[in-house]
Amino acid sequence: MNLSEKDQLYHWHPYTQHKTTGLLPAIVKGEGALLWDETGKEYIDAIASWWVNPFGHCNRVIADAIYEQLTTLEHVLFGGFTNKPAVLLSEQLLQILPSNQKKIFFSDNGSTAVEVALKAALQYFYNKGEKRTKIIAFENAFHGDTFGAMASSGISFFTEAFQGSLIDVIRIPVPTLGNETRSKEALQNAIQSDACAAFIFEPLVQGAAGMVMYAPEILDDLLSICKENNVFTIADEVMTGFGKTGKTFACDYLVQQPDMMCLSKALTGGTIPMAITTFTQEIFNGFYDDDTNKALFHGHTFTANPTGCAAALASLKLLQSDEMQANIERIHQRHVRFQSKIKNHSKVKTTRILGVIFALEIQTENQESYYGTLRNKLYNFFIENGIIMRPVGNIIYILPPYVMTDNQLEKVYQVVENALEIV
Ligand SMILES: *Cc1c(COP(=O)(O)O)cnc(C)c1O
Repeated sequence: MNLSEKDQLYHWHPYTQHKTTGLLPAIVKGEGALLWDETGKEYIDAIASWWVNPFGHCNRVIADAIYEQLTTLEHVLFGGFTNKPAVLLSEQLLQILPSNQKKIFFSDNGSTAVEVALKAALQYFYNKGEKRTKIIAFENAFHGDTFGAMASSGISFFTEAFQGSLIDVIRIPVPTLGNETRSKEALQNAIQSDACAAFIFEPLVQGAAGMVMYAPEILDDLLSICKENNVFTIADEVMTGFGKTGKTFACDYLVQQPDMMCLSKALTGGTIPMAITTFTQEIFNGFYDDDTNKALFHGHTFTANPTGCAAALASLKLLQSDEMQANIERIHQRHVRFQSKIKNHSKVKTTRILGVIFALEIQTENQESYYGTLRNKLYNFFIENGIIMRPVGNIIYILPPYVMTDNQLEKVYQVVENALEIV
């Protein structure tokens, strides 16, 4: 048996209906934007392996930093102790995060980063003896798959089975072009009619919804409304963070600053699972007390893993290099050129770009479901053509590693164009 066959025997894959899924390619090697499977087939990773890998597979700089850390101090518990890479990483992050962010809480993945933010928001008010139990979130949001994160997520089939076991979330429309007023009014209504602790959102781009985008100005308005009403704001930058929108964080496009931020995915350059939730001093102070019970009793075994922190430090340095910033701009410009070429194609309903993110909606007669027939047809077409992409319903998006070469990018565009002929 080869790896793919053994995989079918042993594994249960994420978001996968195994009855209708065949053998999966077994990836054995990666370099830059390329991956190879066990049969030697080459793939271009056009979505940075689920948005985690900006600097390319097997990046030497990060690999060396990890090796160095593994042979110095691989791990030590963060309960009762601290470690050097964690301190250095937080020091650097606090310099580039919105200036009101003062405290760093480590965890393991995007969902846990969200979980920590939600728990902090709810407990902040509990500690003050104030009853605020509701969370506000966007329609079609995606914040992760653990219970709190799932409750905040609005993609219904992800969460249907668990209704009734979820925390209370009030959903408001996404303020895409033309929906700004509806969104604002819904937020005002939610705040007026219920005791809300926090508003969680994916700033400017809803990744899992299919790279749905909205403007910074309206997000600023929404944040102002929350501020005026002492409702905490949680920017879930798990997808948008670390350069993908063209700025380090999507929140860098805003005038307002969020009270909390969630980071993961590209944090360690796609190497070691790690996440961070950041807080204002005000939130931290809400737990700072002589009473032990007012502390945030949340933790994960691998919190602030030194090897993960070393990988994150190396990633930050790469991100801030002139070379990588030029790559981000280069890819953005290429996207803009491709957009002007493709946007009038009869099968194209709409296109959108922010930073290195490019999305294209295909004109369809029916509403396409998230994992529907069209999506599967497109997915398989891309795989056959050696391109890794995960369309969402009728939406194709590209979110390449910043190191993707112009030739590789052209090949991706070409296959996207060809895909329009098969739908
Ligand atoms: C992926 C994602 C998450 C969940 O992260 P996991 O590491 O998969 O748990 C949360 N929020 C956003 C915006 C994401 O894109």
